[in-house]
Amino acid sequence: MSKKTHVFKAEIQQVLDLVIHSLYSKKEIFLRELISNASDAIDRAQYLGLTDKSVVADAPQWKIDLIADKDDRTLVISDNGMGMSEEEADKNLGVIASSGTKAFVKAMQEKSGANVPELIGQFGVGFYSAFMVAEEVTVITLKRGEGQKAVKWTSNGGGAYALEEAARDKPGTTVVLKLREGMDEYLGEWRLRELVKKYSDFIAYPIRFGEKGEAPKEDAEPLNTMKALWKRPKSEVKPEEYQEFYTHLTHDHHPPLRSIPLSVEGAVEFKALLFLPKEAGFDLLMPHKKHGLNLYVRNVFIGADFDLLLPEYLRFVKGVVDSSDLPLNVSREMLQDDAVIRKIKSNITGKVLATLAEMQKDAADEYQAFFTSFGRVLKEGLHADWENADKLKGLLLFRSAKTENNGFLTLKGYADAMPEAQKDIYYLIAEDLEAARQSPHIEAVVGRGYDVLFFTDPIDQWVVDSLREFDGKKLVAVDKGQLELGTDEEKAEAKKKLEAASGEFQKLTGYIKERLKEEVSEVRLSPRLTDSACCLVADENAMSASMERLMRAMNQEVPKQLRILELNPEHALVRRMQAMLEADPSSARLADFVELLHGQALLGEGSAPKNPQRFNRLVAELMAAV
Ligand code: ADP
Repeated sequence: MSKKTHVFKAEIQQVLDLVIHSLYSKKEIFLRELISNASDAIDRAQYLGLTDKSVVADAPQWKIDLIADKDDRTLVISDNGMGMSEEEADKNLGVIASSGTKAFVKAMQEKSGANVPELIGQFGVGFYSAFMVAEEVTVITLKRGEGQKAVKWTSNGGGAYALEEAARDKPGTTVVLKLREGMDEYLGEWRLRELVKKYSDFIAYPIRFGEKGEAPKEDAEPLNTMKALWKRPKSEVKPEEYQEFYTHLTHDHHPPLRSIPLSVEGAVEFKALLFLPKEAGFDLLMPHKKHGLNLYVRNVFIGADFDLLLPEYLRFVKGVVDSSDLPLNVSREMLQDDAVIRKIKSNITGKVLATLAEMQKDAADEYQAFFTSFGRVLKEGLHADWENADKLKGLLLFRSAKTENNGFLTLKGYADAMPEAQKDIYYLIAEDLEAARQSPHIEAVVGRGYDVLFFTDPIDQWVVDSLREFDGKKLVAVDKGQLELGTDEEKAEAKKKLEAASGEFQKLTGYIKERLKEEVSEVRLSPRLTDSACCLVADENAMSASMERLMRAMNQEVPKQLRILELNPEHALVRRMQAMLEADPSSARLADFVELLHGQALLGEGSAPKNPQRFNRLVAELMAAV
C-alpha cells in the first residue's frame, strides 16, 4: 500500500479548527481522552479474547504506556488493545465521530468555545483533542487477529490526513504527538503522573511512564492505582474520584447529581456503581438511543450499554454492574431470559427509585431540577412497570392551577389539600402551562376552590390513562363529559338549575346546533364556565383535543370527532344571542356570531378556528361596526 492522502470531511475540519483554535486553558484533557480510547481498545480485545483465543494469541499483559522524548518533543500514548485495520483507521479517525460532528460544531459555536472539554467528550470527538497540544499526530496501529497489516495515519490537522503502510510487530495502537510550541509540560513525569491521578486513576490497566523515548520497564510502578471504584466502600472514595469515573463513563463533564454505590449479597451477589446525571444530554430523548449499564463479570469488561440491566424508563441512569454470578462468555442474547439478570435489574430499579424518593424528601429543590430534566422519561414507567407503579406515582411532580411560578405539587400534596366536598382529582391536558392556566374549562372548578393538575408533556395522555386514580380518588378531566362538582346535594341543585336554564335557552341551542351541524355533535349549557362564553368538550369516552393534536403530530390518521359546544347561560353574549334570535331568526349577523362563537371555543382549547382568515374578517367587521 502506498501513501494515500485523504481530505477530512468538511465537518471534521470544522471540529478540528474549533478545537485547535479554542482558547480553552485546560488543554490537559487530551491525555484523559487518549488514555480512555486506549482503555476502551483493551476492553474490547480482552472481551473478544474470551471467545476467540486467536485474538490474544500473544498472551499480553494489558498495558498503556506513556513515553516522553524531550529531544524530539514527542509524547507517545501506546496500548496493546484491539488496534485498527486500515479501513477502521480511515473511518474512525478521518470520517465522522460517533455521535454527530454537526451537532458538535453547532454547540461549540453557540457556546463560543467556553466548554470545550465537556463538548469534546459529549460528542465523541475525543481523539481530536490531541490537536490542542500537538502540531502533528501520528497513529501507528495493528489490528488484532490473523492477516492484519499495520497502518500509519498522520495529520497536522490542516485539512488532510495520510494513510500508509507501517511497521509494527505487536497488535495495538501507538499515538505519537509532536507537541506544539509551549506544550513541553506534557513531557515531564511529574505532570503526567498528576494528570493520570486526576483523570484516569481508576483505569483498569497499568499506565506506566517511560522517558528518553524508551518504553517503561514492565516492573515500573504504574501511575494509576487501577482500583475498581465500585469495589471500594463509599467512605473511602472521594467525590472527585466518582466524578472522574462518571466523566470517563459518560463523557459528561458535569459532576453527577448522585453517585449510588450498591453492594448486594444473598441470592444474587453483585456490586454496582450507578450515577444520576444532573442534566439531560442532547440525546436522551432520541428514540433507540443506546442506553444501559456497563457489565463486568469478575472484573472483566463484558460490554457497554447492557439495557437488560435497567428498565427503559430509567435510561438516564449510567454506571457499571459487576457480578460473579454470571458466566464469563455471556452474550446479550443469552442473558435475555436470565434469572440472575432479572434479579439484578429489579434490585437496581428499586435502589434508583428509593434514591429518588429520598432526594424528593430531603432535597426538594434538587429533585425538582431532576424532575424537570428527566420527569418525562420517568413517567414512561407508569405504563411499563406495574410492579413499581405506586412508587412512581409518588415521584411525579405537577404544576397546577394553584402552583405559582416554579412550584410543583405531588399527587399526595394535591389529595391532602382537597376540600372535604371534593371527591375527585381534576386535571387538564394542554399544550403548555399558559394555555392551561387560561383555559375556560377550569373556571368553575377553580371557582369552587378546587385545584386542577396540568399535564403539558406530549406523553401525558398516556400518563393519565395509566394513572386513573390516586389513593382511591378518580382522575377526572375537566374538559370531558358532564362535569359535576360538590356534594350530592350541590350536584342535584346544579343539575336542576341547568335543566331549568336549558329550557329557557332551548331555542338558541337548537339554532346553533343547526348552523354548526357539521362541526359539533351537541350544543348544551355548561356547568364548567364562569367567565367565558363557551367551550368545547369531548364526550366522556372520546379522544381529547390534545390527543388528537398528538396523533396528528405523529402523522396518524385521526377520525373526525365532533365535540360538544357548551354555552355559559350567565354570559352577556349568550343572552344577547338569545335576544337576537327572538327578534329575528333569519338575522345574518346572528349567523356570523355563531361562527365566531365556535372559533372562540376552538381558540380556548388551543386549536385554531376552522377558517382563520374568515374569523379575522368577521372580527374586524364587528369591531368596525361598534
Ligand atoms: P470516541 O472514543 O468517543 O468514539 P474518539 O474520537 O476519541 O471518539 O475516537 C474515535 C474512534 O477511534 C473510537 O471510537 C475507536 O473506534 C477508534 N480509536 C481511537 N483510539 C483508539 C485506540 N487507541 N485503539 C483502537 N481504536 C481507537
